Amino acid sequence: MPTPIISKRAPIYADVPDEKWNDWRWQLSHRLNSVEDIEKVLSLTESERKALQTQGLFRVDVTPYFISLIDPEDPNDPVRKQIIPVSEEMNAFTSMMEDSLAEDRHSPVPGLVHRYPDRVLMLVTTQCASYCRYCTRSRIVGDPGQTFNRQDFELQIDYLKRTPQVRDVLLSGGDPLVLAPKILEELLTRLREIPHIEIVRIGSRVPVFMPMRITQELCDMLAKFHPLWLNIHVNHPNEITKELAEACDRMSRAGIPLGNQSVLLAGVNDCVHMQRELVQKLTRIRVRPYYLYQCDLVEGSGHFRTPVAKGIEIIEGLRGHTSGYAVPQFIVDAPGGGGKIPVMPNYMLSMSDHKVIVRNYEGYVTTYEEPTEYKSHDPKTCKFCQSKRPEPGQTGLTGLLDGEEMFIKPEHFDELHNRDGLQHRLKDENKWKPLGIGSGDLNK
Ligand SMILES: *Cc1c(COP(=O)(O)O)cnc(C)c1O
Repeated sequence: MPTPIISKRAPIYADVPDEKWNDWRWQLSHRLNSVEDIEKVLSLTESERKALQTQGLFRVDVTPYFISLIDPEDPNDPVRKQIIPVSEEMNAFTSMMEDSLAEDRHSPVPGLVHRYPDRVLMLVTTQCASYCRYCTRSRIVGDPGQTFNRQDFELQIDYLKRTPQVRDVLLSGGDPLVLAPKILEELLTRLREIPHIEIVRIGSRVPVFMPMRITQELCDMLAKFHPLWLNIHVNHPNEITKELAEACDRMSRAGIPLGNQSVLLAGVNDCVHMQRELVQKLTRIRVRPYYLYQCDLVEGSGHFRTPVAKGIEIIEGLRGHTSGYAVPQFIVDAPGGGGKIPVMPNYMLSMSDHKVIVRNYEGYVTTYEEPTEYKSHDPKTCKFCQSKRPEPGQTGLTGLLDGEEMFIKPEHFDELHNRDGLQHRLKDENKWKPLGIGSGDLNK
């Protein structure tokens, strides 16, 4: 079995003693952010130089470990593109937004995003080990002046205590693993005191930017708060080093199930063959590919965007072609706060009342004969059917299928289809907006 590559160090770090290189505090305090620093490691292009000298661009900072993974002479290096800015970041594009997922509107208290019925996203810091150029939260991330304080934290805990439907808390930011260990431990302790919180998850790119942070001591601390899950963020096989493999091994041994979330990025990982290698390498280090995200419509990320079709093509090239464990869900996080929407190739081709026609990954088309006498379980005696019901407005298509509701209709639907009344209103007020042309914001 080939072992993962042992990551090299950029030549300027050749003389750094191992105990410093392997100390995460040294990595954090030696991050690179200026033209002068970065130029000592990479041959910069004009576009990169210009972006690095521009004021007001999203924060740049890279750990010595991560910048060392880049081929210094290759301007198209896939790791480089993720963390070194280029002048295209300054280009606006149609439908670009500052807060494309409408997270601020879903925040009952600062830093807590309650978008889904049973789980919340808790933003615990604005700081990261290094900064991804396509950051979906660039409106707040990176700014040390905007970081969440104790008062915000108390408000977040307070909201969670009085919101019993929340059973899953996802810690993100920023990156929770750059918090001071004591603070992270306190935060987890306080969350664990809330009885209805069943699972805690952490989203972190620290294992990728700075695997030396994943010490045995940190893993022992995290293991006190089980069930605890963690998602890392790897976009390209070049990020899977021996150091990352060892960090993941320590976390897995501490009982933390690991997943990966990638973002589909033009020129970085928009290749089905590269994606197959990526997901296979991830499963080898016991990291299960979880989501592959379509790039959000966030400022500065226009040059990274791919057509949605690229994601479908990638899933087409993975499902069936490799282990099911290795296949992520391709997700479009709907702009305007619509939430995560899975998108995939069509495998169901047609159906009649007794047959469905399906196709597999090879293009083999076949039929599945439906049962002639299907006896459903009895919802009236089923204790699951009788107990927990979703919040009003959250039943979705399930509410249509189980017969409680007959339709879901867009806002103003009744007015539009009551044409007689509409004529009067149109005369009265000239501000009628036709259906289908909204502001891009579902709740406005
Ligand atoms: C992504 C996200 C979650 C978690 O979603 P899962 O599909 O359960 O992983 C929760 N809240 C918000 C606001 C999110 O963006």
